[in-house]
Amino acid sequence: MINPFTGHEGTMKITQTGHPKSVVVVGGGPGGLEVAWVAAARGHKVTLLEKNNKLGGQFIPAAAPPGKHELARGIRYYIEMCKKYGVDIRLGIEANADQITILNPDIVILATGAVPIEAQIPNEGIPIVQAVDVLSGKVMLGQNILIVGGGLVGLETCEHVLSQNRRAAIVEMQDSVGKDIHPSIKYFISKSLAENHVEILTNTKVESFKMDGAICTNQSGHIKLSGFDMVLLALGAKSYNPLEKDLEGKVKSLHVIGDAVKPRSAVVAIEEGARLALGL
Ligand SMILES: Cc1cc2nc3c(=O)[nH]c(=O)nc-3n(C[C@H](O)[C@H](O)[C@H](O)COP(=O)(O)OP(=O)(O)OC[C@H]3O[C@@H](n4cnc5c(N)ncnc54)[C@H](O)[C@@H]3O)c2cc1C
Repeated sequence: MINPFTGHEGTMKITQTGHPKSVVVVGGGPGGLEVAWVAAARGHKVTLLEKNNKLGGQFIPAAAPPGKHELARGIRYYIEMCKKYGVDIRLGIEANADQITILNPDIVILATGAVPIEAQIPNEGIPIVQAVDVLSGKVMLGQNILIVGGGLVGLETCEHVLSQNRRAAIVEMQDSVGKDIHPSIKYFISKSLAENHVEILTNTKVESFKMDGAICTNQSGHIKLSGFDMVLLALGAKSYNPLEKDLEGKVKSLHVIGDAVKPRSAVVAIEEGARLALGL
């Protein structure tokens, strides 16, 4: 059977290892949790370090928009499996090379994920926050929201904003929104945004932020978007993998999985975690 997201073929079977090793996993997102519990189920001794006080990584904001709450069940499942197979989970630890090498592991797996891209755009003073921080409940929403970026995160954040009884508009530099969304899902999001009369400006680039909006350029020149009290950025993500360089040559075996390699999806991070754990 072929996984439609990764293109890989074959079923996976968890078998006991004949050579138990000590494994340190850095990062408690879906990739890190999967590799941790599967490795532990095979008989390895696994320690998982997570810098936040909560497990789930980007799956936490991913589960916030309407219709996506079921994703949180996935995180709960992973936590249960880690507990069942005795993974030593240490929260609130931002691991560095010294903290990892002192554990003297046979294998280190970096699953440190991705972080949102910041805007390099001049701002005269409107509050600007990352969409994922809103979805994670870290910041209070304004009333009239300008969302910059119309990919999956931008559109799903817009749905979330509407569900909180706020108004929103979306600006996207490309010629259409939702290019990274599966058509069946995009249909329902687009329908919901249209029913809520969300203004979507495509082929429109933000040049600068003003106190109440933004100056943009499109085919007809400069336009001013006003009447907003907050900007949410949904400009994509970039890999976060500072430890690979720090650990090279200092540990016996080093692997990187998930968004830390390249931002993709939880489905890919989980499959990479499972395949790696089965080969240890
Ligand atoms: C809003 C949103 C919606 C999404 N929707 C979907 C979807 O519907 N389907 C899908 O498949 N994917 C979705 N994704 C993408 C998916 O969430 C990510 O691809 C996936 O979470 C990547 O998993 P990961 O384990 O590689 O990294 P992450 O989930 O980024 O986890 C990395 C973890 O590492 C921790 N960490 C980093 N550095 C350290 C350190 N030094 N020490 C200890 N811990 C550290 C971080 O705190 C974090 O918990 C969505 C993402 C977002 C933001």
